[in-house]
Amino acid sequence: MAEDCLFCKIIQGDIPSDKVYEDEHCYAFRDINPQTPVHVLIVPKRHVAGLNDTQALPDQELAACMRAARKIAQQLGVEESGYRVLTNCGPDAFQSVHHLHFHLMGGRQMTAEMG
Ligand code: 5GP
Ligand code: ZN
Repeated sequence: MAEDCLFCKIIQGDIPSDKVYEDEHCYAFRDINPQTPVHVLIVPKRHVAGLNDTQALPDQELAACMRAARKIAQQLGVEESGYRVLTNCGPDAFQSVHHLHFHLMGGRQMTAEMG
């Protein structure tokens, strides 16, 4: 738990969220400004600022986020149609919330470009 971290407050339930999945290591909820029909944020419960700070995150907890992605894709019906999982790290990638999070996006055909 980090002071003044939006996603820590969401994990704690201090700020409401549309939860889609939770286990002992991670929490997942719908993005407030979805860019695809399915747009979920998967966050480790332990606060780390981003991918550059994952030395502070046990491997099991990092892996839990990736395993959760597949479960959520199944749950929301995009496992076969396809989906993207991405994390923005730093200013060039427009990271705006400094609690590591993975965007799970799907539910429509995306563009081939990723940059
Ligand atoms: P970033 O730009 O850091 O990769 O992504 C942050 C994401 O968090 C954005 O897609 C934004 O829409 C989402 N977001 C920001 N504030 C909230 C919030 O209060 N609730 C939810 N559910 N999503 C949020
Ligand atoms: Zn946090």
